[in-house]
Amino acid sequence: MTDRYAVIGNPIAHSKSPAIHAAFAAQTAQDLSYEALLAPLDGFAAAVAAFRASGGRGMNVTVPFKEEAFRMANRLTERARLAQAVNTLSFEDGEIKGENTDGIGLVRDLEHLGCELAGTRVLLLGAGGAVRGVVAPLLQAGVARLFIANRTVGRAEKLIEDFADQLMYGIPNTLNAGSWADATKDAPYDVVINATSASLSDEAPPLPSGLYAPGSLAYDMVYGRGLTAYLKQAREQGAARLADGLGMLVEQAAEAFALWRGVRPDTAAVRATLRAALPPLA
Ligand code: NAP
Repeated sequence: MTDRYAVIGNPIAHSKSPAIHAAFAAQTAQDLSYEALLAPLDGFAAAVAAFRASGGRGMNVTVPFKEEAFRMANRLTERARLAQAVNTLSFEDGEIKGENTDGIGLVRDLEHLGCELAGTRVLLLGAGGAVRGVVAPLLQAGVARLFIANRTVGRAEKLIEDFADQLMYGIPNTLNAGSWADATKDAPYDVVINATSASLSDEAPPLPSGLYAPGSLAYDMVYGRGLTAYLKQAREQGAARLADGLGMLVEQAAEAFALWRGVRPDTAAVRATLRAALPPLA
């Protein structure tokens, strides 16, 4: 019987996950179906239970349900525990297993973009769910400095306190938080990652100048919007290279696919097909 998977969110119609997983399945000759499920804002648990009861094997979880998925899982990976958010559920052995592949997806995409993260200085903009998901994988990749700047400064400070409480090896002095202006303390950065949702309303965080090191990369997690207000600002402020979050989306999907199916798809062709259909970053 064909194994069933789905992505669940609200809204969900825009999701590229069904196309990505269909391409992975064709490439690896896996017999599976993958659909998009819209759950009511107060109906996540019921929708997951119904999908599971009908034989579903796993789900990707997107906005706004990642924290609810974290609370629902009865077994969590280390990455999901640290992120306090789950984007991949597996229904196995009568259990709901929760994983977070967003951070490793970002790290893999940065590697594809030629960023050797070990020893680099990284600035993360934002302190929401996406940032929670990427902090531990960036630290594990060996970044020398990780500064988290956010509009609501207390939220960034709380985030690093939470990591201090949870990281087995203690809070590294590489991890700091503050306002947009405070970000100059650890500047210049080799990589600046916009993980705010400001790009969705075509705004850029009001960043001070002097953040970008020579040869630096500016990365906007948002994708499909061409040159966002943030990427324009980054180019004007001296970023040498620009990237959007399409590769992160494809890589987090590949991690979920590998977890479910035990086979790792090749992401390059899928990235190229999706990229060809999007506005350019120039
Ligand atoms: P979230 O939990 O809602 O957090 C939103 C963050 O954006 C908060 O830090 C918020 O600051 C900040 N923000 C919102 N509007 C702003 C503005 N006008 N100016 C400055 N800061 C603003 O969202 P999330 O789940 O972290 O997602 C963040 C972005 O990453 C979204 O655009 C999402 O689409 C993208 N994303 C992409 C991928 C991918 O695979 N490419 C994966 C995950 C997320 P306050 O704390 O001050 O409210």
